[in-house]
Amino acid sequence: MRAADFCHETPDGKIQCDLCRHFCRLLPARSGICRVRRNIDGRLFSLNYGAAVSQSADPVEKKPLHHFMPGSRTWSFGAPGCNFTCANCQNWQISQMTSDLTDLPFTAPDTLVDNALHSGCPSISCTYTEPTIFAEYAIEVMKLARAAGLKTIWVSNGYMSPLCLDTIGPWLDAINVDLKSMDDAFYRRLCCARVEPVLDNLRRISRSGIHLEITTLLIPGHSDSPAMLERLTGFIAGELGHSIPWHATPFYPNISWKMQDTPATPASSIERAWTIGRKAGLYYIYCRPGHNDTICPHCGKTVIERTSWSSGPETMRLDVNGNCEYCHTPLSIKL
Ligand code: SF4
Ligand code: SF4
Repeated sequence: MRAADFCHETPDGKIQCDLCRHFCRLLPARSGICRVRRNIDGRLFSLNYGAAVSQSADPVEKKPLHHFMPGSRTWSFGAPGCNFTCANCQNWQISQMTSDLTDLPFTAPDTLVDNALHSGCPSISCTYTEPTIFAEYAIEVMKLARAAGLKTIWVSNGYMSPLCLDTIGPWLDAINVDLKSMDDAFYRRLCCARVEPVLDNLRRISRSGIHLEITTLLIPGHSDSPAMLERLTGFIAGELGHSIPWHATPFYPNISWKMQDTPATPASSIERAWTIGRKAGLYYIYCRPGHNDTICPHCGKTVIERTSWSSGPETMRLDVNGNCEYCHTPLSIKL
């Protein structure tokens, strides 16, 4: 635990947390929606600082990032808590953790960077839960990682405040943001959040120079309707860019938090999402199974072949700049 940044006192004696778009206002002894930031005697504290609950070297494709350092592994860690309460969450044991956070072992930021270096990973990822709610920890790790020559990655729900985004931006190389739906009702019902802040952050990130990829989980009956996916892919192509990679991923009820009665995503929905994304004009659509390869939008040749969404490439046909080896068209790939 450490004193939190990203907060200020309000005229009515509360502490407002300025880290995410919930902007919780906390009386003494109260925690925010994420349950990992608490007003203790008039000061805001980050309870999950240093609580790295998971660490492993993952293929960067598993984040998923298919256009950032393809074929590399990334040292991945998370800290407990989340500012969303997604009923579909697959990491709910740590994102919705209720045990006493002060009991968790402390992992210093430089230990995480040392672990990444010793494992031979060229990057470090803040993932598994929501990096925003352990931002003080993540920022220290990112600064040390950069100094050690590592790239930095976030996997995020995109609900950080403008202040948080401005603060992490200079230290962040790549981000995958969940765009779960275009419907505010979906965000309210399943995540206890709103959609507009996510769209606003996506616009900001796309202008920032940070490498951006987007993921949408296709939950049958909730986030797989053709009309909604047309709006979603139209937003990506129209407002963010045709070359932003879009990952449309299947839902598995057995590992979800509260949606065991919802069926798994059928193959027909995955194919339909791919077709909708193509019609919207997106160049790079990744839908498992069946659409894991990177195809050059100019010459149509397969430039990266992947046998599964989470494994490294089988073959890569890129020139030294990450462009298509056949026709040298830029593919928005950062090597
Ligand atoms: S990070 Fe978000 S949810 Fe957590 S206390 Fe701050 S404003 Fe609230
Ligand atoms: S799915 Fe992501 S955003 Fe939602 S609760 Fe889980 S970790 Fe948080």
